[in-house]
Amino acid sequence: MTDSLQLRSEYPLQELNTFGLPAVAEYYTEIHAADQLEQLEQWLKRHPMPLLLLGGGSNLVLADRVPGLVARILIRGWHRSDLSASHVRLRVGAGENWHATVEKSIEQGLYGLENLALIPGTVGAAPVQNIGAYGVELKDRISAVEVFDRQEQCLRDLSPEACRFGYRDSLFKSIEPERYIITAVEFSLARQFTAELSYAGLREGLGHDPVTPKRVFDTVCRIRREKLPDPTEIGNAGSFFKNPVVSADLYQQLKHRFESLVAYPDTDGYKLAAGWLIDQCGLKGFSLEHVGVYPRQALVLVNLGAARREDIERLARHVQQMVQERFGVRLEPEPRFYP
Ligand SMILES: Cc1cc2nc3c(=O)[nH]c(=O)nc-3n(C[C@H](O)[C@H](O)[C@H](O)COP(=O)(O)OP(=O)(O)OC[C@H]3O[C@@H](n4cnc5c(N)ncnc54)[C@H](O)[C@@H]3O)c2cc1C
Repeated sequence: MTDSLQLRSEYPLQELNTFGLPAVAEYYTEIHAADQLEQLEQWLKRHPMPLLLLGGGSNLVLADRVPGLVARILIRGWHRSDLSASHVRLRVGAGENWHATVEKSIEQGLYGLENLALIPGTVGAAPVQNIGAYGVELKDRISAVEVFDRQEQCLRDLSPEACRFGYRDSLFKSIEPERYIITAVEFSLARQFTAELSYAGLREGLGHDPVTPKRVFDTVCRIRREKLPDPTEIGNAGSFFKNPVVSADLYQQLKHRFESLVAYPDTDGYKLAAGWLIDQCGLKGFSLEHVGVYPRQALVLVNLGAARREDIERLARHVQQMVQERFGVRLEPEPRFYP
């Protein structure tokens, strides 16, 4: 039997979101085990209100006041079982720290997550936007997502196909965002290491020494520390805009006008490097009151101190407008604005 729900009101969230925004939740609770979710649902039936699931708060832009209930998912767990001669199944609780999970998997001789090192947040939030970095997306390593289905009021496993993963997108983010609470993620990891080195920056960073999983992990961490601000020092939510995908026609027109355009072929055309577009507008290091464009990586917006959601929205709109005027391309924010 798990502990009953502990509910708090007017709970401060500033320490629980990596932008460091001064949000306050109307109600707040912590979920340590999947069977507390039934209690959560019963409480919500008696007190109908919006529910925000919170992991590490690294992909959220919160308003000063967050109406309704914020439930922080802290479910732990680590279970491995054999899948085949070459692969192992690893089921990890939604509340486990993502980076620690990557590190521990490598220590246990399970490979496939190395390129996703140092992404902040929890395991349970990772499928929500199908996290990706350095040529690997989470969807390529997942065998199931365990969810509490709020519609059917039961726990069940969803297959990777059912999760409808896309570029920084999934069933959980844009198709049925209110329906599922992710309680665990099951990975299919290899016993034999195969390096994924399609990303040129990673290949260069590795140099000529033999490529081992630990070296890929360390190199990814080093590159990320050089390029991205540490949220414990400077508030941010990582890449603020998705890389826009444009048709092959539009790509050719832009390439004709801007010879150094940075873009990668994509299944639907070409993915343009949003950081390059922003940089070309002269916005690196630009600031508007409490928020700025990070000088070392134009894709990241940072809290310069005392920022509120409105400040971030204002700067984001300015960046979108400049990029639209110069390139005719619309940038779409990556983090979720709530409410
Ligand atoms: C410095 C920095 C670097 C980053 N780099 C990358 C990167 O390289 N690649 C990348 O893809 N992302 C990156 N991100 C974004 C972010 O880290 C990821 O999106 C991460 O998965 C968010 O995890 P979280 O636990 O902090 O989620 P939160 O911000 O708490 O929540 C994000 C969304 O998921 C929902 N959610 C949370 N937990 C659950 C759950 N258990 N069930 C259902 N829904 C849930 C929330 O309601 C919200 O909609 C970066 C962020 C920062 C700050």
